Amino acid sequence: MVQSIQLSNNAKIAVIGAGAAGLIAAKNLRDSGLFQVEVFEEMDTVGGTWVYQEEIASSYYFQSSMYRDLRTNLPKEIMGFLDFPFDDSFGVSSFPSHQVVLSYLMSFCKTFQLFELIRFHCVVKKISRFDYFGCHKWDLVLYDLRTQQLEQRRYDAVVICNGHYTKSFIPQIPGSDLFLRPIIHSHFYKSPEPFYKLRIAVLGAGNSGIDISYELKRVASKVSLCHKKCEMRRMLEDNLEECPTIESLDTDGKIHLADKSTLQVDLLILCTGYEYDFPFLDSSCEVFVQDRVVLPIYRHLIHAKYPTMSFVGLPLRILPFPLFDYQTRYLASIYSGKCTLPSCERMLAEQQQDLFYLDSKGSRKYYHLLAEKQWEYCRELADLADGPNLSVAVQRVYEDVSQFRKREPEKYRRRKYIIFGKGPDDWRVFEGEL
Ligand code: FAD
Repeated sequence: MVQSIQLSNNAKIAVIGAGAAGLIAAKNLRDSGLFQVEVFEEMDTVGGTWVYQEEIASSYYFQSSMYRDLRTNLPKEIMGFLDFPFDDSFGVSSFPSHQVVLSYLMSFCKTFQLFELIRFHCVVKKISRFDYFGCHKWDLVLYDLRTQQLEQRRYDAVVICNGHYTKSFIPQIPGSDLFLRPIIHSHFYKSPEPFYKLRIAVLGAGNSGIDISYELKRVASKVSLCHKKCEMRRMLEDNLEECPTIESLDTDGKIHLADKSTLQVDLLILCTGYEYDFPFLDSSCEVFVQDRVVLPIYRHLIHAKYPTMSFVGLPLRILPFPLFDYQTRYLASIYSGKCTLPSCERMLAEQQQDLFYLDSKGSRKYYHLLAEKQWEYCRELADLADGPNLSVAVQRVYEDVSQFRKREPEKYRRRKYIIFGKGPDDWRVFEGEL
């Protein structure tokens, strides 16, 4: 059994958030020529994560996790949306600063006239389901930060693009109450200077953990990067060491590591990732977040029970902008009736089956982590939406940089990538500072 979720002509679609995901959602849905698309963004600009906020307590609810000196961890040559290359007109470096990524997104909006679809300073406070002769509509409560007025509006579909890098995941570490030293999450890290001459433990060696450790070692007295994959302590550089993960915290800045050794530090920085958070969805939306999984969801995108609600950008360890592009092209095909969905029962069963399998391996929390599965995922969505496929050259560059980043976390950004075709060998990499 399949179902069509075709929306009527001129159906009203609300997009929540004007970060990269919201922008490409707005473009792809608007370009179908069938819908009225409105984007709600609480800040006064587009870009979300890529808007660096100097002050931790800004006047917005949204707090970007961007830090001052961040440069991209993926080459810009593969980062861009499908119809808008992130090329050397934005600067030659393959790994530009966050300011350059923001200017790319601004330029994208200008080129495709997206600003006119966006209502800035507008916080979506609440979304609830409204049942209407067997269909579902969505009531949004909007709060205008300038006029301080609340307003309610009804939509045929909602596309949620609120990002998932703002609610810090704080692990329970035994002894935290004894520690008596500052513990901060990487979400609040802005620059290394405040950590001058301190002894710092960093927990977690994802992109942020590694990046921040290398930034800190320039000013700190010592940085100890603790993570699960490390079995034995070893010095990486003069004042930077790699350590097994943290087992417990103790009095006055003492840390017990998994290999039974200890550290004495002035500060602990948690680079332990983020949690999905949809504070504006009320219980009628029937969306749940359990163990880092959003439920019930089909293809990491569509509400399996109420398919006129969707979530763009949930997958982890991916090539974000292109994946958002594929997801929203697919959504446009579904809502315009070009593409059908399986029955609700089937979609629910599919997620349950995947989770059952992951539970048997104790790895439910990796449900949205696609990594090497992302290519098949994008190709499947591209085929369903009858759109262009992601080139193999892009995949190869992603794989190359992922490997090199692990080996040379400090040097990989000196490389320059060039892509000149779509085939597996249609790219080159050059060494050297840019
Ligand atoms: P966001 O960028 O978080 O945007 C969400 C938007 O929704 C915000 O503008 C917010 O104000 C708005 N919003 C939220 N709630 C509401 C509400 N209730 N009402 C109104 N508006 C709301 N990706 C790469 O491709 N390359 C990289 O090098 C890279 N580096 C990264 C480094 C860091 C430190 C982080 C945190 C992420 C990085 N990423 C990188 C991933 C990056 O987050 C994605 O590329 C992408 O920017 C995410 O876009 P988004 O639209 O999903 O979310």
